[in-house]
Amino acid sequence: MSTYSQRVADNILPFSVSCTLPEAFKEWYFTDNIEDHVIANEECELCNQEQLRYHFEIKNRHTNHHLWVGSSCILRFKVQVFENGTLLNVEDASKKLDKLKKKMRQDSCVNSLKKLASQESNSILANALEFYLKNKYLTPRQAFVVFWRLSTNKVDHCPSFFKVSLKKDKYKNDLREMPLERVHMIWPALSSSQRKLARKYGHTTPESK
Ligand SMILES: [Zn+2]
Repeated sequence: MSTYSQRVADNILPFSVSCTLPEAFKEWYFTDNIEDHVIANEECELCNQEQLRYHFEIKNRHTNHHLWVGSSCILRFKVQVFENGTLLNVEDASKKLDKLKKKMRQDSCVNSLKKLASQESNSILANALEFYLKNKYLTPRQAFVVFWRLSTNKVDHCPSFFKVSLKKDKYKNDLREMPLERVHMIWPALSSSQRKLARKYGHTTPESK
């Protein structure tokens, strides 16, 4: 057995009834409890992989023991995932976990925006919060102001969790006319197709730090 499977076996078998790996995993299910540790520095209690930001709780239905693991291990080891009491296939389980992660990223953006709005009285920021709550994305101009003020106020945030919309011509135009250093500030929030469009407008890719 490789060290990896040995590690997983050592972590799960003592808390399972069955003493072989695929059998033991049939006793475990995802409890729907998730924890956002904000800093990606947590360990998966199954494979001991480090630097996880999100922990997903799995529980053994016979021993009641629980472990905090990464979402990839839930899928890799086919830990049972339920939706309204129905067992999901791997594809739907993966969709459910992705949806939960997306929700956590949005919540983290809302928390950063709320904290910023409470620290700085500024109508642009208040409007950006309201706009984000309604649409789950920012306009290019809002994104620039938000990232700039979040950094200045040292509010914990992850720019890549925010989404920027270029759906309206006005937003595209704003991106086209934006000074390069501002474009670079919102770059982490742009999708690959949005970055392609930015380059078409003559903006360059920021140098990686
Ligand atoms: Zn893991």
